[in-house]
Amino acid sequence: MQEGFKGFKLKIARSLRAELFMIICLSGIIPCVILSLALLHNYERQAINSRIKLVQNQCLVIADHLFSAGFPDATDNEIANSELAQLSNLYDGRVLIINSDLKIVKDTYNLGEGKYMISDDVARGLSGESTGKYDKEDHYIETVTPIMNSDSEPVGVMLTSVSTAETDSILNNSRRLSTLVIMALIAVVLGIAFYVAARITEQFRRLSSSVENIREGFGLDEEISIIPYKETEQINESFRQVLTRMKNLDDSRSEFVANVSHELKTPITSVKVLAESLLAQPEVPNEIYREFMEDISVEVDREDRIINDLLSLVKMDRAGANLQIEKCDIEQMIGKVIKRLSPIADKEHVELVYEVVRHVEAEIDETKLSLAITNIIENGIKYNHEGGRVTVTLDSEPMMFVITVEDTGMGIPEEDLPNIYERFYRVDKSHSRSIGGTGLGLAIAKGSVLMHKGVIKAESRVGEGSRFEIRIPISYIVPAGDQVFESRESDPHE
Ligand code: ADP
Repeated sequence: MQEGFKGFKLKIARSLRAELFMIICLSGIIPCVILSLALLHNYERQAINSRIKLVQNQCLVIADHLFSAGFPDATDNEIANSELAQLSNLYDGRVLIINSDLKIVKDTYNLGEGKYMISDDVARGLSGESTGKYDKEDHYIETVTPIMNSDSEPVGVMLTSVSTAETDSILNNSRRLSTLVIMALIAVVLGIAFYVAARITEQFRRLSSSVENIREGFGLDEEISIIPYKETEQINESFRQVLTRMKNLDDSRSEFVANVSHELKTPITSVKVLAESLLAQPEVPNEIYREFMEDISVEVDREDRIINDLLSLVKMDRAGANLQIEKCDIEQMIGKVIKRLSPIADKEHVELVYEVVRHVEAEIDETKLSLAITNIIENGIKYNHEGGRVTVTLDSEPMMFVITVEDTGMGIPEEDLPNIYERFYRVDKSHSRSIGGTGLGLAIAKGSVLMHKGVIKAESRVGEGSRFEIRIPISYIVPAGDQVFESRESDPHE
């Protein structure tokens, strides 16, 4: 039960809609309430102050008359007494006249005469100061007004207590009105907060429902309908790009599978046709039999080559994690490749030249880079003509080493150059097939060079030849993700 409650609380706290709602509510309601209370307080203070001022002014006028009427020594002047009675009635209050001995000489309630009144305010009044204060709890105002003689010296004080019942009832009305205004404002803010939070989070709901539709398999053509705010439009755009990428990957995967199937099927079909035509003839002369079996052997070799190339390509496609990086003598590595390819070059009557401008030692995966260089040099031999030449050069720059393979072969048309690294791309399909090409050699070479964080580029002229250039860092550049992994592994504290 407790667990369930906790889970519920967590869900509310994590809801963007609830959070937005709360933020808008608080930022709307708190200032409204503070402003209303401040205005009300200010109005109250002004109302009370003006009431005190009014009473003080009247008391000043009467205090003036009192001394002329003999107060505080004599308190029997009728005019003065009636003025005091009028003041008392008008404000529903009580007036005390206190002489300089702090004795009450006149009380409009006739209760305190003859008694003594000792208080700070009276003492201040007797030193000539007028004071006024508001007692909120008992709802009255008390003012002290000095009674001055002809030399402007205080001879007594007039202590007036006035009820604030009337002012309080006006203030109560104001408080009620302001409470109503605050409630109305809170209702409006709640409404606005609910609407805004719902409108903003609706965009995310639509986005997630679009993503869900795609996940459920409604197709990659799904359009997302979000109101084009600047912020949501960016999410929209990123999402569209991810979709396009997924679609391209999906397309290229399908195309690759179709190409692989086709390439693998071709030699098998040939084998089948050859075998069937042999079987169809009851008596096959030995030499025909041999010829067909040789053709079958060529097709099987071809199938084998395609499968090997496909396996190499898959290895190149994987992340650089399975590279076996070691310090290697590049001059020797290329030497070995050339030695392996020499018989083919001799057979094709192509001269194979190797020039080393600078000796290089570099950190590479020897097997994978050898494969790349083999494919490029082999192409130079395959797409050449009798008496042609393939020149391999090794040079180095401060950070990179450079291998160039230049041939005097048939060349590659300019419009085909950007596509030669694509899998199964061949400039001349029938020619490539007839000389044993699989259309995967350069794709493998490029994959290997990229794994070494290098670059490969080709220049060519039809009828004159081609030039391939590979540049690879001498020190292997560890990918960022691997660096973190390595340093974590070697951290002795972990
Ligand atoms: P393949 O196995 O068919 O040689 P590649 O991927 O190695 O496949 O090469 C792709 C295509 O690029 C080849 O079919 C060929 O048409 C062209 N090509 C590659 N290298 C050369 C070259 N040195 N001279 C002329 N054409 C080349």
